[in-house]
Amino acid sequence: MSKDKKPKSYKPDWVPENAGEGFATKVVKGVNLNKSGKSVHSHKPGKKLGVDEYIKGVLNNDRTILARTITLIESNTHIHDEIAKQVLKQLLSVAGKSVRIGITGVPGAGKSSLIESLGLYLISKGHKVAVLAIDPSSTITKGSILGDKTRMEKLAREENCFIRPSPTGGTLGGVARKTRETMLVCEAAGYDVVLVETVGVGQSEVTVRSMVDFFLLVMIAGAGDELQGIKKGVMELADAVLINKADGENVRKARLACNDISMALHYIQPSTKGWQTTAGICSAITGAGIPDIWEQVIKFRGESGKNGVFEERRKSQTIEWMYKMIDEGLMKDFYQNDRVKALFKNVTQRVAEGKLLATEGAEELLKVSKQIK
Ligand code: GDP
Repeated sequence: MSKDKKPKSYKPDWVPENAGEGFATKVVKGVNLNKSGKSVHSHKPGKKLGVDEYIKGVLNNDRTILARTITLIESNTHIHDEIAKQVLKQLLSVAGKSVRIGITGVPGAGKSSLIESLGLYLISKGHKVAVLAIDPSSTITKGSILGDKTRMEKLAREENCFIRPSPTGGTLGGVARKTRETMLVCEAAGYDVVLVETVGVGQSEVTVRSMVDFFLLVMIAGAGDELQGIKKGVMELADAVLINKADGENVRKARLACNDISMALHYIQPSTKGWQTTAGICSAITGAGIPDIWEQVIKFRGESGKNGVFEERRKSQTIEWMYKMIDEGLMKDFYQNDRVKALFKNVTQRVAEGKLLATEGAEELLKVSKQIK
């Protein structure tokens, strides 16, 4: 391929069959190739797999089966759901051994560049890195903020890296569940660092915070951006704040911003008990400051492990997850209830016209939803 020719995007085998243009990524050919350029597929795509084959494939880190297991998790059909549950249940005992890192920041802050730089660094140190994403835009507009460009090309070619774009469609809660379960599958496949990326829209940061151990906020210096994270309360979620693009003429500005943020952090309740949120500078392009990020994570892991905060958080995250699933389940049952569906438009109309109080409307619908057939 000539240098100036753009790589052609193609549809990999793990993209769901019915995925339209909105599916949150375009992948550059080469993702499924190892360093020597050989395909790492061991199974012909399309062959039906049983629960044991999925499990064996994941445990052997067969990337094709890993990808297909995730597709299974992401599927919304009942039959896939049942198989996925059985697979997950058996993988659970070997999952959970990674360090889970969430990464957020406004579009353009340099998240994907940073993940690529950090990912390559970690792989050079012998780690296996999984990169997952939660793209809230894909649940709202079916478009995508995170995935509409070719991302992390170098990292994607690494054998010890597995990149999975954001699941699309459904509620943010649904997308989060799929990402959570995907994280467990990646851990079972031996990935010891999981990076979960999101973009600062709506509740997505809170969602990612609720599934990771360490949360990283990526910012850039200049034009009052420093305050953005404080205003939105995102800084309160962070275990580390990084001013990216600290290279060339930008280094001085980045240092100043970093000092401001360090001071501001003293007035903010830390996100993790016993850990003072840190501020630092880095450059995803030159690689400056990248090893320091990992050093912070190691330190965090050590300290939060010693004082029990790490385990406690993992436990409460799992319980919180169960609560969320109950909420989602109840909502689904309610809105899919035939009697509710039959009455819904009418009640909504009467509430809109002021003929019925909102409370009365809700009571009426809840009452019919509880009626036994
Ligand atoms: P994202 O939207 O947060 O994922 O940001 P990207 O990683 O796509 O980066 C947005 C732009 O900033 C791209 O043009 C990058 O090349 C550039 N960029 C990212 N990190 C750095 C950095 O450390 N230094 C400089 N100078 N540019 C960077």
